[in-house]
Amino acid sequence: MSLTKEALQALQKCVDPDQLINAHEELLCYSYDGTGREFLPEAVLLPVSNEEVSSIMKVASAYNIPVVPRGAGSGMTGGSLPVAGGLVLSLTRMNRIIEIDKDNQIAVVEPGVINQQLRQALHPLGLFYPPDPASLKFCTIGGNVAECAGGPSAVKYGVTRDYVLGLDAVLADGREISTGVRTAKGVVGYDLTRLLIGSEGTLAIITKIILRVIPRPTSRRTVLLLSDSIADATGLVARLLHIITPATLEYLDATALNIVADKIPFQLPTQTKAMLLLELDGSKEMVASQANQLNNFLEHENLLMVKSASTDEERDSLWQARRSVSPAAFALKPDKMGEDVVVPRSRIPKLVAYTEHLAKISTLPIFTFGHAGDGNIHVNIMLDRSKPEEVEQANDAKHKLFKQVIDLGGTISGEHGIGLTKKDYLAIELPPTSLNIQRQLKQLFDPQNILNPHKIFP
Ligand SMILES: Cc1cc2nc3c(=O)[nH]c(=O)nc-3n(C[C@H](O)[C@H](O)[C@H](O)COP(=O)(O)OP(=O)(O)OC[C@H]3O[C@@H](n4cnc5c(N)ncnc54)[C@H](O)[C@@H]3O)c2cc1C
Repeated sequence: MSLTKEALQALQKCVDPDQLINAHEELLCYSYDGTGREFLPEAVLLPVSNEEVSSIMKVASAYNIPVVPRGAGSGMTGGSLPVAGGLVLSLTRMNRIIEIDKDNQIAVVEPGVINQQLRQALHPLGLFYPPDPASLKFCTIGGNVAECAGGPSAVKYGVTRDYVLGLDAVLADGREISTGVRTAKGVVGYDLTRLLIGSEGTLAIITKIILRVIPRPTSRRTVLLLSDSIADATGLVARLLHIITPATLEYLDATALNIVADKIPFQLPTQTKAMLLLELDGSKEMVASQANQLNNFLEHENLLMVKSASTDEERDSLWQARRSVSPAAFALKPDKMGEDVVVPRSRIPKLVAYTEHLAKISTLPIFTFGHAGDGNIHVNIMLDRSKPEEVEQANDAKHKLFKQVIDLGGTISGEHGIGLTKKDYLAIELPPTSLNIQRQLKQLFDPQNILNPHKIFP
């Protein structure tokens, strides 16, 4: 326990009574995330302003209390779990869209804004915020920035970091900083904005975000490709991207397809082993022209089916099916190690073949799906954590997978971050000097190690 009676009294002075939670049953609501693991905080604070965040951090720093920033708690690597007890700082009440500047294509938001809400606010103005994690209906922009979230559209539009121009943040000792610009360009000093993006709540609390937004594409077409060979389907990805740049290029293997089969609006041929789900976007003319190029290219490919979604409902069902894969996987086993590895696109077939090998030598279900267009494949190792032999097998498979990914020239996380669940593997990818400089940066920002301790570093 790090929260003394005295510290609690000091915190009570920072916020109104309804912004501080310490009843056990309410604390439970802030004890978990997308990993299914649980750690109970000692108190939860729900600030509504930068000033409140700052005064909370001053108290936390004075009393040496761990603080874990939290958005919607949908993270997949334990980032928002209070593993050392202390405080959870929920940013969900800082949820205002402060400004949309249409002329300069900028949106300024508080961190608790839900991704989808921002998209909806931009829509009538003809604007668009592309980063689209599959959790977009419930995850926060603050959480997206802290994890540098990606999504299906990253193949064409990039990830969260490509849209963040500047930030306001509160440091561990309560000092406030502003980083970046609200202009299209800016190179003054070190790029602290980029440093904070993806820092997983370990360097500062993000309290305001200046985002670049772009004109909304007016037309879309969703195309589904089915193959009886995983190698053929994944081998198609790099070649297809020589012809067109689709807005999304997703991949699902046969197991992933099976678990969401009831949501797919077509009967899939029984020989189906893999699906590629593409979306073309732009003006009507651009989409038609890309569709033509795609059709010409696909004429020479050996596919089971090529089909366009003919209505908005069909399109929505296909995307709903794709977004449901992660939660639906729990039909296979109660627990999941969901890894979001990335390899150069041309090496996806090798990675997928290796995961099939891992599945063969294991008794656990292992399946793959993900953002094939940018080489970001989600490898899911399903297990029952109450069975030690399954945990051992899953850990072994995860370790082998990460080594293989590095051998293929890839990275162990494309979008979910390191958090708690991958920190023991950091040294597989980062050389010692790089790791040491990162530790020194953490020390500079947070000398007392109170901001999200026990995360990222082994
Ligand atoms: C079904 C499902 C699908 C998903 N699909 C994707 C996907 O396609 N792409 C993807 O990238 N991710 C995906 N995720 C993971 C997750 O949704 C993202 O990582 C998301 O960005 C987390 O946002 P959140 O608001 O839930 O943050 P949380 O989980 O609450 O927090 C995540 C991390 O950010 C830190 N943090 C949160 N807010 C702040 C802040 N204001 N300041 C500083 N640090 C902060 C936390 O301390 C933590 O380390 C998925 C998750 C689920 C459950």
